[in-house]
Amino acid sequence: MSDCLFCKIIAGEIPSTKVYEDELVLAFQDIAPQAPTHILVIPKKHIASVAEINEENSSVVSHIFEVIAKIAKEEGLSGGYRVVSNCGDDAGQTVHHLHFHILGGKKLNVEMA
Ligand code: AMP
Ligand code: ZN
Repeated sequence: MSDCLFCKIIAGEIPSTKVYEDELVLAFQDIAPQAPTHILVIPKKHIASVAEINEENSSVVSHIFEVIAKIAKEEGLSGGYRVVSNCGDDAGQTVHHLHFHILGGKKLNVEMA
């Protein structure tokens, strides 16, 4: 996906502040943090959104959640944190490459919508 912002970050064409990287996933600081800790975790292989997860590509999602738990511990989010994935226009998805927001470091608003 040559026009995908997050694919460009993975390729190193756009800079990011990396938090974690392995052969399958990349985690980096959100450029416009909504909480003291705001990290994005993405698969290196382009998947457009949660709506595109299927039998062939879903194993990376469980790996992403292992990485999320690891990052949350390393970031000291012992009081809790939120994991969010916006899917599609109604949810306000702006980057069409699957990503999971890790939000924490403060008492988060409880409203879900
Ligand atoms: P969403 O609105 O759920 O699609 O989330 C996209 C997220 O990507 C937003 O929180 C943006 O602040 C973040 N973002 C956009 N461009 C960059 C960038 N170059 N580096 C890091 N985060 C970015
Ligand atoms: Zn992409």
